[in-house]
Amino acid sequence: MIGCILIISGPSGAGKSSLIREILNHIPKAVFSISTTTRKQREGEIHGVNYFFTDKKSFQKDIDDGFFLEWANVHDNFYGTSIKQITKFLKEEKLVILDIDVQGYMIAKDKLGKFATSVFVTTKSRTGLKNRLISRQADTKETIDTRVENAEKEMAFIDEYEYLIVNDDFNEARDAILSIAASSAHKRTLTDKDEFISRWLKN
Ligand code: 5GP
Repeated sequence: MIGCILIISGPSGAGKSSLIREILNHIPKAVFSISTTTRKQREGEIHGVNYFFTDKKSFQKDIDDGFFLEWANVHDNFYGTSIKQITKFLKEEKLVILDIDVQGYMIAKDKLGKFATSVFVTTKSRTGLKNRLISRQADTKETIDTRVENAEKEMAFIDEYEYLIVNDDFNEARDAILSIAASSAHKRTLTDKDEFISRWLKN
């Protein structure tokens, strides 16, 4: 047996982190893939919990050393997913949650397709997204504008995902993500048919 991967993308401010927290609280084998980033640490964020915070030089070295499964430049900062961490979690039969942008998803999908289930999370409207980013009080006005602009581009990738959650009512969105997360562990492509049948016949 091997673990599985749940990839969650969507605009910043759509509520991905809160939904991920729900999965981690409700599904014991769920773990979060902690990305490395060059973004400035926000208040309340913990190194090694939310992200591994680093500088551009070290990030470049990690790229050169082949440390990343995927990496991308998002809103002028670099973000990347460690191959080592994912491999370890898969071997431990975990449900690995990746919160990555659409560019990273396209790469990860190619490399991990059969292990992965994908979900795009967004708000009901552009205004709804902007209001959430403003109320979060985590970013400057310029950063918020960049994030909303980026969201418009990200929405064009919705077709690439298996599931779509419009996070308007949080309870509904939570129920949806929990059922998708539970299903992701039963994706048929996680099982090698020949190996499964040969084991099945022996017992
Ligand atoms: P934030 O700065 O708000 O934490 O994240 C900004 C964006 O970067 C989000 O859309 C998030 O999904 C994305 N992101 C976070 N970690 C990674 C990663 O490892 N790879 C990629 N490609 N995107 C990431």
